[in-house]
Amino acid sequence: MNLFEAYLEKTKEIGYITSLSHSVARISGLPDLKPEEMIITENSKKGIAHGLKEKTAEVLMIDTRELKIGEKVTRTGVYFDIPVSQELLGRIVNPLCQPKDGLGLIKGDKNYCPIKKEAPPIIARAEINEPLETGIMVVDLLTPIGYGQRELVIGDGKTGKTAFLLQTIASQAKEGVVCIYVGIGKKDTAIKWVEEYLKKQRAFSQTIIIHTAPDDPAGLTYLSPYSGMTIAEYFRDKGKKVLIIFDDLTAHAKIYREISLLLKRIPGRDSYPGEIFHIQAALLERAGTIKSKQGGKASITALPTAETLENDLSGYIQTNLMATTDGHIFFDINEFRKGKRPAINAFLSVSRIGNQTKSIIEKELAIWIRKKMAEYQRLLEITKFGTELPFEIQKNIELGQRLEFLFSQDLETIIPKRVQIILIGLLLSDFWKDKSLKEMKIEINKIIENDKKNTLPSLKEKIEEIKDISHLKFLIKEIIFEIEKNL
Ligand code: ATP
Ligand code: MG
Repeated sequence: MNLFEAYLEKTKEIGYITSLSHSVARISGLPDLKPEEMIITENSKKGIAHGLKEKTAEVLMIDTRELKIGEKVTRTGVYFDIPVSQELLGRIVNPLCQPKDGLGLIKGDKNYCPIKKEAPPIIARAEINEPLETGIMVVDLLTPIGYGQRELVIGDGKTGKTAFLLQTIASQAKEGVVCIYVGIGKKDTAIKWVEEYLKKQRAFSQTIIIHTAPDDPAGLTYLSPYSGMTIAEYFRDKGKKVLIIFDDLTAHAKIYREISLLLKRIPGRDSYPGEIFHIQAALLERAGTIKSKQGGKASITALPTAETLENDLSGYIQTNLMATTDGHIFFDINEFRKGKRPAINAFLSVSRIGNQTKSIIEKELAIWIRKKMAEYQRLLEITKFGTELPFEIQKNIELGQRLEFLFSQDLETIIPKRVQIILIGLLLSDFWKDKSLKEMKIEINKIIENDKKNTLPSLKEKIEEIKDISHLKFLIKEIIFEIEKNL
């Protein structure tokens, strides 16, 4: 018995495809069909009931190949589900969990999980108070993210959003976090880059990539973030911390607009259907921290991305997403053009929850850094006039330059937070006062390497104990000898 016959025996309802347009099939003859229910064609093609009319139903078909008008269909009585398993780790799949990496079938026990689910209720949730390190200094120190947070990564095309997200995966995979990268309508070459970068960083075996290509059916692409979230919930329910990336939700919104226009729904602002806000908000609501059955906390941290045009943050989808997340990291095209990497604009980035994950010293450091950066920006304006500057101002400009330099990180440099604090402490203590930026870079790299080799052990423990900046300065003075010995 095939899938169609099995469900027909169960539901005893048979219907027919009466018309087809791209991913949308109109069906008649299934009187008890419910919204979001899965349907099956006689050739075992799946669809989701989307719009129900008096005598017909609109169904979003996931696979549109060889569909025919007149084809038989049946109801299934279940919501659309996907086979999730532990063995998805280290694999590239489509939203139906079918392999796309040529490595054969996904083995292991399969759990069929519905792709649409309610978000956990308040009572099940736990406070977000544990920091998630991205390994990127400007983010960890100024706009920190907590496990379970939803932080939007927003900016123009080609400004380094994906690069930052991959660095975050590299940093988190080492901590045992399950990472899910959902590439929505991405070219194969883009996914190849993701795969190669993660393999080089030894993060691939902890990652699941869900990929839809630009020429995939709209129905399949529309499913991808829900499918990713369902997989994330599976691992969260096993007590894991999960990081999920949706790259990107502006592409997802466009696909949904395409489907809605095919369904002849009344278009709203920018031709998007009215419910676009709800469908993306409901998706992101499923993230968060919960009290785990296994004890402790389990979480889904969601980092959706959104694309802008010439830094315009006021677009319809962009503002919707800003409203449904707990803050945003803004990749500024102007900074990118000036050569800043990562091109994050710290002044226009916010994290509404992340601050509660910070220690006292981190909070103090963030205030000091923001003050110095703002001062530097102001002083740069003055230098444009070319006047002779007093020594004190020159000193502040130099500090600003070194701070900016410290915050520049290439693709390969991922810095643990304890090292970030040491580096800021060294800057605070004028450690590089007489050094050129080039010499400073060499020493920074050595400190990062020494940390990897564990030759900065005494610092690590002490950093945890520091209570304020003056203590940090004091400690750094004490340990400079040790750092110099290691350089
Ligand atoms: P898209 O809109 O196409 O998704 P994006 O915003 O995700 O673009 P990326 O593809 O991540 O941008 O990066 C654009 C380019 O910038 C890439 O060639 C990448 O190698 C480079 N880049 C990004 N971040 C850095 C960095 N920290 N150091 C050096 N190069 C970087
Ligand atoms: Mg990208």
